[in-house]
Amino acid sequence: MQSYADALSAKGYRSFGFDTDVEMDMDMGNMVRRIEKRKGGDLTDSPDHEKTEGDPNELTNEISAPYEVPQFPIEQIEKKLQIQRQLNEKQTTSSRSGHVAATSTASNTRVVQQPNLSSSDEQYTTDAKAEAPKTDADINFQRVSISGEDTSGVPLEDLERASTLLIEALRLRSRYMAMSDQSFPSTTARFLKTVRLKDRYDNVPAKTVSDIIRNMSVTGLIGVDIHNKGLQSNASSTSSGSSQWDVEFPPDETYVIKPLNGVFHIYTDEEQTSELKFDYPDMSQFVNDMQVMCNMIADGPLKSFCYRRLCYLSSKYQMHVLLNELRELAAQKAVPHRDFYNTRKVDTHIHAASCMNQKHLLRFIKKTLKNNADEVVTHTNGQPMTLSQVFQSMNLTTYDLTVDMLDVHADRNTFHRFDKFNSKYNPIGESRLREVFLKTDNYLNGKYFAQIIKEVAFDLEESKYQNAELRLSIYGKSADEWNKLAKWAIDNDVYSSNIRWLIQIPRLFDIFKSNKMMKSFQEILNNIFLPLFQATNRPSEHPNLHRFLQYVIGFDSVDDESKPENPLFDNDVPRPEEWTYEENPPYAYYIYYMYANMTVLNKFRQQRGLNTFVLRPHCGEAGPVQHLVCGYLMAENISHGLLLRKVPVLQYLYYLTQIGIAMSPLSNNSLFLNYHRNPLPEYLARGLIISLSTDDPLQFHFTKEPLMEEYSIAAQVWKLSSCDMCELARNSVIMSGFTHAVKQQWLGPQYYEDGINGNDITRTNVPEIRVAYRYQTLLDELSNIFKVNQTCGTSHPEQK
Ligand SMILES: [Zn+2]
Repeated sequence: MQSYADALSAKGYRSFGFDTDVEMDMDMGNMVRRIEKRKGGDLTDSPDHEKTEGDPNELTNEISAPYEVPQFPIEQIEKKLQIQRQLNEKQTTSSRSGHVAATSTASNTRVVQQPNLSSSDEQYTTDAKAEAPKTDADINFQRVSISGEDTSGVPLEDLERASTLLIEALRLRSRYMAMSDQSFPSTTARFLKTVRLKDRYDNVPAKTVSDIIRNMSVTGLIGVDIHNKGLQSNASSTSSGSSQWDVEFPPDETYVIKPLNGVFHIYTDEEQTSELKFDYPDMSQFVNDMQVMCNMIADGPLKSFCYRRLCYLSSKYQMHVLLNELRELAAQKAVPHRDFYNTRKVDTHIHAASCMNQKHLLRFIKKTLKNNADEVVTHTNGQPMTLSQVFQSMNLTTYDLTVDMLDVHADRNTFHRFDKFNSKYNPIGESRLREVFLKTDNYLNGKYFAQIIKEVAFDLEESKYQNAELRLSIYGKSADEWNKLAKWAIDNDVYSSNIRWLIQIPRLFDIFKSNKMMKSFQEILNNIFLPLFQATNRPSEHPNLHRFLQYVIGFDSVDDESKPENPLFDNDVPRPEEWTYEENPPYAYYIYYMYANMTVLNKFRQQRGLNTFVLRPHCGEAGPVQHLVCGYLMAENISHGLLLRKVPVLQYLYYLTQIGIAMSPLSNNSLFLNYHRNPLPEYLARGLIISLSTDDPLQFHFTKEPLMEEYSIAAQVWKLSSCDMCELARNSVIMSGFTHAVKQQWLGPQYYEDGINGNDITRTNVPEIRVAYRYQTLLDELSNIFKVNQTCGTSHPEQK
């Protein structure tokens, strides 16, 4: 590696590109961005023009694996692009000086003013920034652009219609995110600010979109860091001792917390004379918004429009890779020390009860049976049972135990059988073993489970660059679940700097109801959310929960999405206290009440100076596509998203709003969708924010490093390049719940900025070419949509 870099620098600063046009000038001062165009030795001193001015047929015809394309078309593309660059030269020069978008065309005389980039950039400028920010134009690569009067391929009226609908949808999400203190991409937010459509939320005194972005990106998260003292320093060191659980206790308050129509309100006194007013969309608003969105995804012309844009994005990416693959690779090679193995990656979707692989669990069970044979682990019919008695009752000895006998691995029999898959959580098919080894709340207070999680955490710390967001369950069965869970974590000191917690809430109301454990759905909400409000209101009365919550980043909603349900409901849907049926409420009902309560809770916690939560449900793994509409409106990011492949409108919206999607193709392969049909490579090509995650290593993986196994198989099957892999890893950190300070350390101090300024190749190993391409492509798509509405008589905020 070192010698390669040396060899390059010994040859001085030279450009090996084809390009003569001004846009492509090399930045002479920056070794990192030096591009080697020709592979294999031809590092001669011939100047650029020798390669560009001659007959285009003389262009090097480097065919890059894995794309086996005949040579002739490549030359044609090169020639075409060369001509196009000359045509665009003038536009590009002006766009560099005045931020004027190059979206206008030869016959189209309108020049579209892009949203004021420079002023919003100032908002993010920090003192740390020493040199002038680079612009995309400083990056040397082959750009793919389309020119001509009509760049969208649909009639103008269709474009206008699509534009209006899409902007409405974008606005909806930005409102839902702003209300709940979840993040919304600043690029899209800037575009939204440029149109003023009639907005029925205008009377809601919500913060502006840019306020919330700034809050989320910088201040809000720094605020969290203050309360997560010690976290920053731990980001790279290993954990030890109980100081991890030290936290500031804000003074107790005397608010009274009561649910109203399923959502908690915070009153100043028992008589409820006044309350802390926190906005959230009420049920009728939500039902209305759902209907708007559902009509939208079924709208024919809009479907065609989005489908075409998605196809365009795929083709554009293919072209980008074809032309720039070698440059991307060279940029990666030029970075000393950093490679895919030592870039940070986060397993963004993994369940704690299955975070170890089957061999690990087997070893752990054998070890425990050997060392703790006489420990009482459970009560059966009032009789205490030791661990050895438990195994005797199953007629098993340590010697007998094998991975095959454990039978926790998913196989071809679990395909489309979520019920069978669920039973795989029981080692040897015995729910008693699951109870003893994989639960936080059992006779031993989760002692063994804590031990095995700590072993997994130790492995992650050893590997240093792998991190995980483990899901722990809160069922909503009883009011003391939270306190027990917090006590479990703190008593057993289950902490690691490589791990953060998400709370998964299984959608099991029908089970609790049929077992007569509760009367109405409101009881589940009480058990899940009231303890959180109380711990926020009076931390000193819930010290463990207050401490534990600093490492909880959000909520997940889990269960079999393919269960039959009635996905759409209207305003007449019973309120939670009236939901006393045996039937399970639909997905949207669960998500709405989680979202609404989380929104109020976040506002309350923010006011108290505490960390806030995000919603990251399982969504679109199977079942009705309406689940994905819920995710679009209410979730910061989602897990799976497989069904987006069937809904172009939503897929396009997930792209425009850059919603993170944690995908687990190996899990899908065992349950819902064969590996070779998985849409991940397609999503990635189009620029959706995808990360790779394992879901359940116990059921799906074979090796000691399940996350690397996941990356490895994806890379092999889909022929992902090293650049793709590093992009996936970077995405996983961006969408994760680790704090602002930790992300700065992992991705670069300005990771939250748009485009190349947010990327630090020395930490992420993602070439700036790739980042610039993604950013420019998103800008192009957004201006394509917004230019129609901007010129339809709507005013510019700056012009007022
Ligand atoms: Zn899962």
